[in-house]
Amino acid sequence: MTERAAPYYCPYCGDEDLRPSEEGHGAWECGACNRAFRLAFLGLLAAGLRRTPEHRTEPDHTHREAPR
Ligand SMILES: [Zn+2]
Repeated sequence: MTERAAPYYCPYCGDEDLRPSEEGHGAWECGACNRAFRLAFLGLLAAGLRRTPEHRTEPDHTHREAPR
């Protein structure tokens, strides 16, 4: 386990072309959309860790019918 968490995908464009930023600790740059962002650890959730079931069925809140 490494000290810093490395993002796998750009949170803005979803690309994998991420590189550590010169801005400092936890800062990353996306080579695809040229955005720079910073990851920050906010703390542990009060509820603690929950076991993730093997077959996750997440409610599809994101699917909406586009207004015409
Ligand atoms: Zn990006």
